[in-house]
Amino acid sequence: MTDPCDAAAADTTTRPLTVGEVEALLRAAAPPQLAESWDSNQLICGDPDEPVRNILLAVDPVGVVVDEAMARGADMIITHHPLYLRGTDHVSATDPKGKVVHRLVRAGIALANAHTTLDAAHGGVAAALADRVGLLDTRPLQPNPEDPTQGIGRVGALPAPTRLRDLAAAVAAALPDSAPGLLVGGELDAVVETVAVSGGAGDSLLGTARAAGVDVFLTADLRHHPASEHLEAGRPYLLCGTHWATEWVGLPPLAARLEAAAQARGHRLSTYVSQIVTDPWALRLSTGR
Ligand SMILES: [Zn+2]
Repeated sequence: MTDPCDAAAADTTTRPLTVGEVEALLRAAAPPQLAESWDSNQLICGDPDEPVRNILLAVDPVGVVVDEAMARGADMIITHHPLYLRGTDHVSATDPKGKVVHRLVRAGIALANAHTTLDAAHGGVAAALADRVGLLDTRPLQPNPEDPTQGIGRVGALPAPTRLRDLAAAVAAALPDSAPGLLVGGELDAVVETVAVSGGAGDSLLGTARAAGVDVFLTADLRHHPASEHLEAGRPYLLCGTHWATEWVGLPPLAARLEAAAQARGHRLSTYVSQIVTDPWALRLSTGR
């Protein structure tokens, strides 16, 4: 694949990258061939020829993220989630997504996303989550058929055997905080050594994690019945974080990679990773008296 940035590699000025060139850097970091068939990973709105000096990275393309991009003078937003996963027949400002499109176009801010491509990539969401847990000798939980060195989730070993409750405390400390926190399922004092991780909703990977023979599975969005029925059959024990927290961890490495790639090509690019929690939950209260 031709990299549009190559033509500018010899340019010693600090000409800003274009939206199209940033897209090329994004495709290098999160290769399109890693996308799941149902997914959307692309430039959602924006002109490929427009300049980009400042990028805001966030998990969700929602209104508060647009507010932040405008306040920070960003020319482009890169989110993990697509704005329209299933397509739409209108972009009128009569609904929140159409409003996002209108505000971005009016402000001249481009929006692109890297979803399952970033989940699966080297240095992507799954790899970053494995790094936060401190896993060694990692491999994909569900290898990509085209390239088995990349794929959904990661499996690896802890540096030393530890009790589930201590691992959970370390994982909780290693993730960014949001209201629901981290839930733990299993024998709290059991000794564990191998872990599978997958950011975002992990219900569909419970069987894959069990087949991997690991002691613990860290993911998010687990529902009562799948989790309960899974634990009835034993390991892997479950660590259930939030969707936002388990995916946000993939953004700082992506930001660093984009900046480094721009710099290597002689362009100045600044990135900022949004700290706004876009989980739907604002508050957790313990229930009962
Ligand atoms: Zn997600």
